[in-house]
Amino acid sequence: MPGVLSIRNLRKAYGETVAVDGISFEVGHNEILGLLGPNGAGKTTTISMVLGVLHPDSGSIQLEGKSLATHRSTALARTNFAAVYAPLPGNLTVQQNLRVFGLLYGVKNVSDRINQLIHEFDLERLRHMKCGALSSGEQTRVALAKAMINRPHLLLLDEPTASLDPSAAREIRARIVKFAAQGTGGVLWTSHNMYEVQEVCDRVLFLSRGRILLGGNPKTLPGEHGKQTLEELFITVAREPLTLGLS
Ligand code: ATP
Repeated sequence: MPGVLSIRNLRKAYGETVAVDGISFEVGHNEILGLLGPNGAGKTTTISMVLGVLHPDSGSIQLEGKSLATHRSTALARTNFAAVYAPLPGNLTVQQNLRVFGLLYGVKNVSDRINQLIHEFDLERLRHMKCGALSSGEQTRVALAKAMINRPHLLLLDEPTASLDPSAAREIRARIVKFAAQGTGGVLWTSHNMYEVQEVCDRVLFLSRGRILLGGNPKTLPGEHGKQTLEELFITVAREPLTLGLS
């Protein structure tokens, strides 16, 4: 059975800047894969290509064995995402936003699905509030509820807990772990919070200047490279990859 997401030799340049330089990786069923890397490493560019927002210069993207290039609507119907840089329309209420996205994704019994998500993400109190008036943490909760509306097979999360307080972040992490454990879905997760990555991700990839330099289990990877913590490893990979024999 193919993975949920399969990327081969993906490349994207903006003029002279090569943002993604021939990367290949898979996200398996029930797997949470962490895509790590310093600012400008190419994480958002990669996610944007998987979402079909950016066209790769070369390489392939397959969702459950179907090429995004040739089965775009089928592939994208099974995908969803949440990112701080893509807020929901602020002049619509929480319920209206969920309805719009539910209809866009062709969700059956959309009212029932909205009620379910409002309950699951504890949004009842905010249901009729305009999204633009919500705190950043509340907006994140709504964005995650929206990301689940079509019961995606692939969930793309770009720093999903960046604006959440520790208790809300823990709750959100638990929901995402539950999502990955149920059904056959997979998650591609970017975060700069190494504690979170170690807790949540089954596997991580270190991206630097558009290339994958390292990958493995975030719990054992630091020790394999003579480092105490994932953060220490991250800093070394970002600043001095040659000291680890990477380039
Ligand atoms: P961050 O952690 O800061 O969000 P990132 O890993 O998501 O960074 P990208 O946003 O993918 O990195 O950027 C990768 C590289 O591509 C950077 O050098 C960036 O300056 C460049 N880049 C991204 N978008 C554009 C664009 N629209 N035009 C020109 N260059 C771009």
